[in-house]
Amino acid sequence: MQINFNVLDRQYRMYQSEYEDKALKVLRKGWYILGEEVTLFEKEFASYIGTEFSVGLASGLDALIIAFRALGIGEGDEVIVQANAYIACVMGITINGARPVFVEPDEFYNIDPSKIEEKITEKTKAILVVHLYGQTADMEKIQLIAKQHNLKIVEDCAQSHGSVYKGTLSGSFSDIACFSFYPSKNLGGFGDGGAITTNDVKLAQMVKVLRNYGSEKRYHNMVVGFNSRLDELQAGLLRVKLQHIDELNQEREKLAHRYLDLVKNNKISLPMVREHASSVWHLFVICSQERDRLQEYLTLNGIGTVIHYPIPPHLSEAYQYLGFKENDFPITEEYSNSILSLPLYNGMTEEEQDYVIEVLNNFK
Ligand SMILES: *Cc1c(COP(=O)(O)O)cnc(C)c1O
Repeated sequence: MQINFNVLDRQYRMYQSEYEDKALKVLRKGWYILGEEVTLFEKEFASYIGTEFSVGLASGLDALIIAFRALGIGEGDEVIVQANAYIACVMGITINGARPVFVEPDEFYNIDPSKIEEKITEKTKAILVVHLYGQTADMEKIQLIAKQHNLKIVEDCAQSHGSVYKGTLSGSFSDIACFSFYPSKNLGGFGDGGAITTNDVKLAQMVKVLRNYGSEKRYHNMVVGFNSRLDELQAGLLRVKLQHIDELNQEREKLAHRYLDLVKNNKISLPMVREHASSVWHLFVICSQERDRLQEYLTLNGIGTVIHYPIPPHLSEAYQYLGFKENDFPITEEYSNSILSLPLYNGMTEEEQDYVIEVLNNFK
């Protein structure tokens, strides 16, 4: 049997006629940028997350860049972020001229709140919290630290659409939260897309200005901005998918629990979920001391896997200038050498998953 890591057309086929009706409607309307679909998506998405405002953007990376820009964080400032984050998280900070300050993750792969305070300096302006792999971070402790030190919180929810901490959705804990709608994300579109959510009307307004060349009124440019607009077609298709996001996440949860219940091999550690938190299982990340051999064995048996991520940002070529070296973040580096993401996608059949489980359980 051949099991790919992800099969994106399965989720498309689940609601195929709804997507196709919407796409035709938008195409035939003749209005393709910043129209009714974007306005309605922003309203519906903010209401789903539980914030006052949402602003649609062109990608998740743009959401991060524009979030820090809107907060006025740049040259000379420091932003705290977990060392095992996705590289885009770090780029959102450094493209603005600010410096990332790395903190090791906890056993749930999120930022370890007990290691944040030792990294705070006079230059620290914000904590970027990444709800990695779909699980909400320990928000209560992080909010307390931010409050005590007068720091902004920015959330990166690119992997956590719909995940909850103590009954509250990720994307509503911070000054500004960033989302990606890249096709493989839980709320993925059919191209690039992104958004921010916030309760601050001034920040929402500033993001709207920044996404459109720094102008609120056409040809009246207040600041140097970007071209980072969510298009009407994506917004329309995302509105369709948003109506189904809870059932899509429930399907992922069911698949995740089957892995948790049925994978039994002492060479493999399974992911854990923090008390009071939930995961929307963007990724199902296992851990093994023999990761490379395990990945090769799965490949030979027709099973696709991915490592999220093989090179931590502090060791990437792009960030050599920060001056880090191997062993500077041992927990992060240990994770990058032992983690492996299993196939888990909407529309995956039990038969397909049973095959993956059987092959995993036979790994010796
Ligand atoms: C995907 C992702 C991004 C970047 O989103 P794009 O839409 O691809 O630019 C940022 N942060 C995290 C955690 C992501 O998973």
